[in-house]
Amino acid sequence: MTTPNYSKFGEKFTQHSGITKLMQDLGRANQSNNPDLVMLGGGNPALIPAAHQVFVSELERLIHDQGVDQMLGYYDGPQGSERFIQVLVEMLNQSYGWGLSTDHIAITNGSQSSLFSLFNLFAGEMPGGGQKQVLLPLVPEYIGYADQGLSEQMFVAVKPSIKRLDNQEFKYQIDFEQLEQTLSDRDIGVICVSRPTNPSGNVITDAELAQLRQIANAHQLPLIVDNAYGQPFPGVIYTQVQPHWDDHTVLCLSLSKLGLPGLRTGVVIAKPETISALSRINGILALAPGGMGPGLLTRMIKDNELMPLVNQTIYPFYQDKAQTAIRLFEEIFAGQAVYRHKLEGAFFMWLWFPEMDMSAEDLYQALKRQEVYIIPGQDFFIGLSEDWAHQHQCIRINYAKDEATLRKGLMAIRQVVFSV
Ligand code: PLP
Repeated sequence: MTTPNYSKFGEKFTQHSGITKLMQDLGRANQSNNPDLVMLGGGNPALIPAAHQVFVSELERLIHDQGVDQMLGYYDGPQGSERFIQVLVEMLNQSYGWGLSTDHIAITNGSQSSLFSLFNLFAGEMPGGGQKQVLLPLVPEYIGYADQGLSEQMFVAVKPSIKRLDNQEFKYQIDFEQLEQTLSDRDIGVICVSRPTNPSGNVITDAELAQLRQIANAHQLPLIVDNAYGQPFPGVIYTQVQPHWDDHTVLCLSLSKLGLPGLRTGVVIAKPETISALSRINGILALAPGGMGPGLLTRMIKDNELMPLVNQTIYPFYQDKAQTAIRLFEEIFAGQAVYRHKLEGAFFMWLWFPEMDMSAEDLYQALKRQEVYIIPGQDFFIGLSEDWAHQHQCIRINYAKDEATLRKGLMAIRQVVFSV
């Protein structure tokens, strides 16, 4: 095969990264007819029947009332649907008193798009020469960031400290000393953290977030908080923490984890200057963000129907799954050398096998041969300058599954790692 004559952009964005290979495996597995296949990989939200029915009914209502005409037949402006932005502003001000105006919100084609624009807005090659990086205060971090930079070496990360807890639990914490050191050693353009964190289920505490904000402000850097699983929607956080926004924070929300990933709708809350920059990027990359997500949810938010659905249906669904996952973990792995990151949010269980005599990748391959799919941890450690043994000792499991499937998967893992 001849090598295509692609540009640098072409080369960078068509490369086979570890994760695209993995996603191909998962995609193939999802097409399989094997009823015994155990799928614990992937980040798809669960299809929660009661919530799904509400969204389908709303769509039917829109079709009946011609509301769908605007959604299908017209471009929104590059900032996104004005009516949707207006109802979001009202809801967020009412809930959190953030004092937002419609100049503080832009809509995008999903958080993945929001982050692509934001990373490349604040970091990469600078007009005056030199290059700025995105600082990840804590890894493991969302794998979808890894290849988003238009420049090479886009990310630099700080290793977390690991706090051991009771009951075979642990929690990652930000190492602020190392963070300050990295800020003085590197040219940083923006700081970004997902809260809750995909893959670990960590939720950085209010105190950690406040300290991050203070450090970002001191260095005059924007702080991106990727809130794809957080409040107000889908609200999949099991600890008591406050959502926060201020002028120096860029808060990213998404409709995906409500059970609507197909709508590809992201929401960015930031100061007007950033929103206006994002709108211009939207205009160039996409003309306008899609109108289906805003069209579907505007009335539900205006009539205060979304948050009751979140609180009474979506949150309890994931909370119940999390409790089942913890119970199964404690039953199946009792007394074994395996630790579970404290389940604080999102719908992933992050397991650490410090004494495992194979790598997470080997474990993935061994499980795959039995048609059990998990995600090996190594690729989530984006931006570390050197390999870290810990990154080959962890795996991610999507626990928003039925109990029998999860049990089968955990038993298969125990068998491969501990031969029992
Ligand atoms: N951020 C995090 C932490 C995620 O886990 C995901 C998707 O899994 C995204 C962003 C991207 O979400 P979206 O579907 O809105 O593009």
